[in-house]
Amino acid sequence: MPGPATPVLKSVSSESSDPAPRARGPSVRKRSLVGVDSGKPLLEVRGVTLQYKTQDHLVTATYRVDFSVPPGDRFVVLGPSGCGKSTILKAVGGYMQPTEGEIRLKGELITKPGPDRIMVFQEFDQLLPWKTVRENVVFPLVTTGKYKGKMADEKAMEAIAKVKLTKFADSYPHTLSGGMKQRVAIARGMAMEPDILLMDEPFAALDALTRVRMQDELLSLWDETQFTVLFVTHSIPEAIKIGSRILLLSPHPGQVKAELNSSGAAAAGDAAFVALQNRIHDMLFAERVEDGRATP
Ligand code: ADP
Ligand code: MG
Repeated sequence: MPGPATPVLKSVSSESSDPAPRARGPSVRKRSLVGVDSGKPLLEVRGVTLQYKTQDHLVTATYRVDFSVPPGDRFVVLGPSGCGKSTILKAVGGYMQPTEGEIRLKGELITKPGPDRIMVFQEFDQLLPWKTVRENVVFPLVTTGKYKGKMADEKAMEAIAKVKLTKFADSYPHTLSGGMKQRVAIARGMAMEPDILLMDEPFAALDALTRVRMQDELLSLWDETQFTVLFVTHSIPEAIKIGSRILLLSPHPGQVKAELNSSGAAAAGDAAFVALQNRIHDMLFAERVEDGRATP
């Protein structure tokens, strides 16, 4: 497990200009403004409100959400079902525009999808069933023009090796377990060498044991390559285990409750883990955001 065995939470590392840690509870980052963070963020989400227009009403999925992700972070967005986590990923992916606020990657405004942001979903059917593992990984490399021919094949095999599936390179998806398919999807994403990997509850559909193994594998993959990942989950333990930071969102519509530096928390022992879990639970659910917006 990466990171030092810190008892629970410390102050948010990039917040060097932040005053002394608050008297109680984990370091809860006050919403920061552009430029407050010392390191240059890779991804900046500023005051982002996301809405869906349905036939007769407007659904506000998130309300003025702020966060920034430095390079190499395992940044987890945690919140209950329906709080707008997937919607945030869609917006970062460029599939949806904010009603309010802006999203920037390396300083550039995100206006459309691009190969610099790759999404990994929980569904097992995200692979093309008529293509082998290797062909599935090669496919986006070639269609986006990132690599072609032998180079595409080499890059694909490198990524497949990283997720330990070399022996299965010529197998078809239907012959693989759910966990293996998910590894192929991760390899396919990583082969594209995106600036940020977007993972939408990628392990939610796996059985409990496979899920734990996949979490461990993701962490060891991260140890090797230090990629930046924006990981969405509704599971508090998963957030603590995966995240170097955790952004807590309130129930629908999603608003930022807090941002925690959780690196090392998972290695701090069972008691600390449970204490943090309880604390996050209380922070998420203690005071619901009541703003008069009727939930349909
Ligand atoms: P989460 O991923 O946290 O479970 P979502 O981002 O999927 O939440 O959804 C946030 C809110 O937006 C929910 O109230 C959901 O019903 C609504 N929503 C999601 N997708 C659509 C859509 N295509 N049209 C209308 N409302 C939507
Ligand atoms: Mg979702």
